[in-house]
Amino acid sequence: MDKVAKTISLKKYGIDTANVHYQLSPNELHKITLEKGMGKEASSGALAVNTGEFTGRSPLDRFIVKDAVTDDKVWWGNVNIPFEPKAFDALYDKVTNYLTNKDVYVRDSFACADKDYRLNIRVINEYPWSNMFADNMFLRPTKSELQDFDPEWLIVNAPGFMADAKVDGTRQHNFAILNFTRKIALIGGTGYTGEIKKGIFSALNFILPVYKNTLPMHCSANVGKDGDTAIFFGLSGTGKTTLSADPNRRLIGDDEHGWTKENTVFNFEGGCYAKVINLSEENEPEIYGAIKKGALLENVVLDASGNVDFADTSITQNTRVSYPIDHIANIQVPSIGKNPKNIFFLTADAFGVLPPISKLTPSQAAYHFISGYTAKVAGTEAGIVEPTPNFSACFGAPFMPLHPTVYAEMLSKKMKEAGVNVWLVNTGWTGGPYGIGTRMKLKYTRAMITAALNGDLGLYSYDKYHIHSVFGVAQPRECPGVPTEVLSPRSTWNDDEKYYTTAFKLSNAFRENFKKFESFANEEIRRGGPQRYAF
Ligand code: ATP
Ligand code: MN
Repeated sequence: MDKVAKTISLKKYGIDTANVHYQLSPNELHKITLEKGMGKEASSGALAVNTGEFTGRSPLDRFIVKDAVTDDKVWWGNVNIPFEPKAFDALYDKVTNYLTNKDVYVRDSFACADKDYRLNIRVINEYPWSNMFADNMFLRPTKSELQDFDPEWLIVNAPGFMADAKVDGTRQHNFAILNFTRKIALIGGTGYTGEIKKGIFSALNFILPVYKNTLPMHCSANVGKDGDTAIFFGLSGTGKTTLSADPNRRLIGDDEHGWTKENTVFNFEGGCYAKVINLSEENEPEIYGAIKKGALLENVVLDASGNVDFADTSITQNTRVSYPIDHIANIQVPSIGKNPKNIFFLTADAFGVLPPISKLTPSQAAYHFISGYTAKVAGTEAGIVEPTPNFSACFGAPFMPLHPTVYAEMLSKKMKEAGVNVWLVNTGWTGGPYGIGTRMKLKYTRAMITAALNGDLGLYSYDKYHIHSVFGVAQPRECPGVPTEVLSPRSTWNDDEKYYTTAFKLSNAFRENFKKFESFANEEIRRGGPQRYAF
């Protein structure tokens, strides 16, 4: 990229600094990061950094300023934690004061690939590599778009600034605060880059449904040769990024999309953020190949020759790489697709009881969307390893400022209008729970998804499908490329009693979790839950 013939002042933001580095290219940021000793170059050419104390988001330190814009709209609670406007103003001034006279890296970019929905973003970073992350993840303006760029939202990102909880009104030294009136995301005390992208995601999850009649979704999306769009919802680690990178389908995006009133699906972002734990070229060639110059690796361990050991989780299990979307060969340009034909709900069921693929009725689709189930596996240390169910409404509760039923109702309506097929895909365990069974083979999951997309799983009928006796979902009896016994979780266990005991344990957890939504959900949605009684 050519140098940008433009300089900007940050005075209006309260930052009086002579050292503004505006719109540097990824190469320049890569170089500066190395020069400052803040990163290393991997043998692939990618830049590798450590994000410091935080290697993941900190949901308990995510706040929303409670004011006239948000007060009666946001679903306040322990996900959307209120923050005083005055406390925000004071903390903002402290952070900008902290950044004064420092080198700061400023970038203008967009969110939302559809121009009618575009959000102009200015990011101010304390660290060069955080600014490179912003360049990878947001949409990159052209030179002419930059000339008259008018920023709407501001992200101030100061990982080195530590809040004083008692004075500043935070929980501890780190914080990520959204202010919808001032249109600012204020992030401090954490270098974890995911806070930057999920800050804007959370802002859009408020803006799009409230002002633009558009459904924001925590999902990946891709499009087939015939232009058919598929979207994949799922919580972290369930396979959104992995499964959307499909050599036979063009990638729209790997994490955040909007479904518009014009019945299109657009990516919010301009890049991907893949998990790299145990990444192999054989299993995930597209992602593996994207890790080259311009990509930013986080919290991985390099050997003396700069090779990444993807099995090394000594820093964190949540090792990551971000890269501009065009590091993937097969992409949709621009990142927009038509009305989806297939929706996949991905879940990593560590109990190993959900079928690897099943078809959902509209009631079940609504029920599972509101439930947002996946499982967490207890630490990797030896000893007792009981999986715990993790329910997160809309498959993304930490990022959803509004009540889950707002999103669920929009989705139900859109699904009905589009006549979409909805599938529940268990990318988690088979042959028993975590500790006894094994993770579903990626090649089987891919084969099941391909079969669903190609219409190879047949029409919904009793000879093609078995209705699961606990969850009521329709389990295909056969699938090209997948051994038949794998399709029935019960038969992979070889112990019916244990299987059903565990299945009922999970169905009880579903019902327990759903209680808080019962008063909002109509009869149709409630019918989509697991069956009530053992038999
Ligand atoms: P996030 O929201 O945090 O970005 P994600 O949904 O995008 O999460 P992925 O990055 O796709 O999750 O992670 C899925 C992980 O699980 C990858 O490391 C992948 O290799 C691994 N995996 C193992 N088996 C499967 C499977 N059968 N299907 C999908 N992923 C699998
Ligand atoms: Mn992902």
